[in-house]
Amino acid sequence: MKRILILGGGVGGTLTANLLARKLRQRVKAGEVTITVVDQTGKHVYQPGFMYIAMGGERADKLQRPERGLLDSRVTLVVGEVESVDPATQTVSLVDGLPLSYDYLVLATGSRIVPEAIEHFDTEAEHFYTAEAALELRKALDSFTGGRIVIGIAGMPYKCPPAPLEVAFLIEAELRQRGLRDKTELHFCSPIGRAFTIESVSEMATPILEAKGIELHTFFNVEAIDADRHVVQSLEGEELPYELLILVPPHKGQQFLMDSGLAPAPGGWLPTDRATLQVGGRPDIFALGDATDLPLSKAGSTAHFEAPVVTERIVAAVEGRTVDHKHGDYLGKVMCFFEIGDGKGTLLQFDYTHPPRPPKPNQLWHLGKIVFNKTYWHTVPKGRV
Ligand SMILES: Cc1cc2nc3c(=O)[nH]c(=O)nc-3n(C[C@H](O)[C@H](O)[C@H](O)COP(=O)(O)OP(=O)(O)OC[C@H]3O[C@@H](n4cnc5c(N)ncnc54)[C@H](O)[C@@H]3O)c2cc1C
Repeated sequence: MKRILILGGGVGGTLTANLLARKLRQRVKAGEVTITVVDQTGKHVYQPGFMYIAMGGERADKLQRPERGLLDSRVTLVVGEVESVDPATQTVSLVDGLPLSYDYLVLATGSRIVPEAIEHFDTEAEHFYTAEAALELRKALDSFTGGRIVIGIAGMPYKCPPAPLEVAFLIEAELRQRGLRDKTELHFCSPIGRAFTIESVSEMATPILEAKGIELHTFFNVEAIDADRHVVQSLEGEELPYELLILVPPHKGQQFLMDSGLAPAPGGWLPTDRATLQVGGRPDIFALGDATDLPLSKAGSTAHFEAPVVTERIVAAVEGRTVDHKHGDYLGKVMCFFEIGDGKGTLLQFDYTHPPRPPKPNQLWHLGKIVFNKTYWHTVPKGRV
């Protein structure tokens, strides 16, 4: 009997469980393999929709579904919070519940936001990294009548790298439609020396920022918020006053991974092999999605393209054969739609060796993103694309 334990029922965990259930169908039926997903909420959340709550086009209740309904019937779901992992005894402890043993462990517990790492973030800054926060940002935009909007990033890495630029472009278009553009200054703060981490994307986005009259501030690493003066301050010494401050909150890996010694570096990201997705050189532990320390976008699509690799490696081990490297090596593939505003979008598609070459923004890529969002429940988690 081989026990496969998957921690986290988000994009990566759900897809991996379903792919494994399909590939190991006969062995699960024969009682030779068990596949279990542990998730603390038992709900699967489609986070890319949060941005559309903030922009007024989405509802929070449409963005979550019971995890059970997305999982193959051969997969067992345990709803519970993981407290620790002991790799020596191959055991996972839950906050409330019996310990679980594994032969193969998949870590897919994503990332968490830590706005409290910056004083006054909660009272001064808006964001869109939870459904509730996105709704608050919507309210702030609804009551906005003009002034300075500052959009920035309060820590790297963070989920969905294009999201703050997309929000800047979408807000700019909204303000024009509402007749508020002339009364508003828009500022976009990037922590590095250009608008976006990847050079080719930066080259695409910078002229769009200029054309839309959004002022770009490079090397702006958010250090503090002066709540009395309504000013955001950078590590580099720049100060920007705001009427509306929108910041991507700092992110970290899950605390229990840090406490278990699996993610020893301060950010809490799992040291993951870029090809095999094994953690810390252990043959029985894999990671995918936001939880890894790979220098790639923390994106659902990253988890999506990593899941077949983890699946192939575990299936090969269970079947006692060598790994098929065509499917069992991750090449760094990522694919993200990118909103530009005014009903247009573009596409970022890349891997470890091929940087993205975003096509000229058009309506097609914007529609692609909308269709993808709407069809997500029937495609990605179930392994149908
Ligand atoms: C505003 C926004 C916009 C985005 N836009 C895009 C986009 O356009 N395209 C794109 O590809 N990606 C986008 N993303 C990113 C995408 O949502 C994430 O990268 C993706 O969800 C990561 O998948 P994951 O499986 O690693 O983690 P998640 O989907 O976050 O799942 C992690 C799971 O682990 C569970 N968990 C965590 N800790 C524990 C514990 N201790 N015990 C038990 N369970 C636990 C959680 O409950 C959760 O279900 C966006 C994200 C946000 C916030």
